[in-house]
Amino acid sequence: MSEGVQTSPAFTPRIFSGIQPSGGLTLGNYLGAIKRFVEKQDEDYETIYCIVDLHAITATLFEPDVLRRQTRELTAGYIASGLDPAKSILFNQSQVAEHAQLAWIFNCIARMGWMQRMTQWKDKAGKNTQNASLGLFAYPALMAADILVYHATHVPVGEDQKQHLELTRDIAIKFNHDYGVDFFPVTEPVIEGAATRVMSLRDGSKKMSKSDPSDASRINLTDDADAIAQKIRKAKTDPDALPSEVEGLEGRPEARNLVNIYAGLADQSVEAVLRDVGGKPFSEFKPMLSDLAVAKLSPISTEMARLMQEPDEIDAILSKGSDRARAIAAPILKKTYDIVGMVS
Ligand code: ATP
Ligand code: MG
Repeated sequence: MSEGVQTSPAFTPRIFSGIQPSGGLTLGNYLGAIKRFVEKQDEDYETIYCIVDLHAITATLFEPDVLRRQTRELTAGYIASGLDPAKSILFNQSQVAEHAQLAWIFNCIARMGWMQRMTQWKDKAGKNTQNASLGLFAYPALMAADILVYHATHVPVGEDQKQHLELTRDIAIKFNHDYGVDFFPVTEPVIEGAATRVMSLRDGSKKMSKSDPSDASRINLTDDADAIAQKIRKAKTDPDALPSEVEGLEGRPEARNLVNIYAGLADQSVEAVLRDVGGKPFSEFKPMLSDLAVAKLSPISTEMARLMQEPDEIDAILSKGSDRARAIAAPILKKTYDIVGMVS
């Protein structure tokens, strides 16, 4: 294997994560991802947060104006939720070509069998796999490149992305092994908080997603107080009162989901929430949850709306972020090409 390649045994603690501009941000994205991103920004990490526009076109080709608006709105959502472009690098994926370049190398590292096992592929491709895009199948290899092109050591994500993070680790390990180097870190997923998997409000067995055709299934960060209250009022539940202990949520996915959401928004443990609300019927708990959701989300939606009036400001933040991101990614890609044996 390659000789004289320098290895990088020690990696700077660095966080990378991203969200697709495939629709409006949901409460799931906020509790599972963005809220964590904001917390990490003030810890001892370099933090890089991406709007993964190349991923957004794997399942649906959007009208160009729609994709542009969604990209700006997601950036506004990041900033309105507390991400600070002075502390974190904020940018959109397509502007740092190194992501797609490293993804090609990883397409040649990852095995078909690995990719075929991905549950997101199975869920999103549905029955008609022959008609799904090649991009949707290759998605996890691009995601591995998004992370490893920064040598990111930690990735905050929701539960649903755990399997893709394991694949990222497998790709790093296989690359390092195949080329006899210690070049890519074996990244740690960070899946924290009470609401790592927020479920649809209409179906407790289905993840809340921004691409779900039913708007009633989710709370959007742009929903107003009335819309939030109405969606929570109509959220599917069962006829029983809330339990006082976590065990009492067993077999009650909808009840569990609403309690997890409450705990996530209140920054409390599920145990602590149940100590307070145990014994209450949903007719009492739902208005409490609505009030809390409105109190936490309405300042974010107000700030998002304000920022959306300043698209030039948003574009300038993304452009500056892309320059900073590229400065980290370019030398790592160059080194990767050296390791692989590309002549420069
Ligand atoms: P799509 O339906 O287009 O896949 P999405 O809502 O799943 O959209 P992604 O852009 O795929 O959003 O994921 C962005 C981040 O949000 C990831 O870290 C993911 O784990 C997290 N996330 C998405 N949905 C949820 C959810 N329901 N609960 C907790 N975290 C979530
Ligand atoms: Mg998703």
